[in-house]
Amino acid sequence: MPTDCLFRDDAYLTDCSATVLGITDQGGMVLDRTVFYATSGGQPGDRGLLVTAAGAEVPLTTAVYIDSAKSEIAHVPAEAAAPPGIGEGVKLNIDWDLRYRRMRMHTAMHLLSAILPYPVTGGSVGEAESRLDFDIPEAGLDKDEITAKLAEMIAADAEVSARWISDEELAASPGLVKTMSVTPPMGTGRVRLIEIAGFDLQPCGGTHVRRTSEIGAVRVTQIEKKGKLNRRVRLALV
Ligand SMILES: [Zn+2]
Repeated sequence: MPTDCLFRDDAYLTDCSATVLGITDQGGMVLDRTVFYATSGGQPGDRGLLVTAAGAEVPLTTAVYIDSAKSEIAHVPAEAAAPPGIGEGVKLNIDWDLRYRRMRMHTAMHLLSAILPYPVTGGSVGEAESRLDFDIPEAGLDKDEITAKLAEMIAADAEVSARWISDEELAASPGLVKTMSVTPPMGTGRVRLIEIAGFDLQPCGGTHVRRTSEIGAVRVTQIEKKGKLNRRVRLALV
C-alpha cells in the first residue's frame, strides 16, 4: 500500500500522525502517510522522531523508498528498537532546521541550473554544501559571477510553485528535463513540475521554499574539473 507523501503537497509540514502498515526486514517502519522526505534526486531523507502510541520516542535517521515505483517509504530507526505494532497509531516529527536548510539549498540548485543552462549529470543537496555536475567541455565559469547572479534571483523574491502534468505532456516537452542521470518518475501517469517564476521550470520531486528570498545568501565555493566534459559547481549557504 503506497505511503501518502504529505511533503509533496506541503513542504512546510513538520509533523503528522500516521498508522503503521508494516516493518521491513531491516526494521524500517512503513506508514500510511508521512512528512518525511525520502532519499531521492540527490536530496537525503529527513531525520526526526517517531512517537509510538505508548509514548516511546524512536529517533529516525532517514527515510527511503523500498519499491522501484517510489510509492512506499520506510522510516529508518537510529538503533534497533522494539517496533510498533501493525495498525498502531504513531506521531512523526521531522528535524525542521535540517530540512529547511535543505529546502533552501535545493531551491538554490534550481537557480544554479537556470544560470548554467547545460545538461546536469549529477548532484547532491546537503545542509552545508551542495553540488551540481554539468556536462560542459569548456570552462570559463566564474565563481563570483555566478554568485552575483544567484543573489539577484534570490533578491527578486520569485514565487516557487508546483503543478502536475501528464506523462504525455512531459514526453512532448523533452527540453524540460535537464538532468541526464535522474529521469523524472514516469509511469504513474503524472509528473510534478516545479516553476520558479521567470527563472526555471523542470520536473522535480524534491522539497522547495515558497519564494526565492527564503534561500538567503549563498555562495559558489568551488568549480572543479571532473573529467573532460564535466564541471562540478559547489554551493554553500553563507
Ligand atoms: Zn527541485
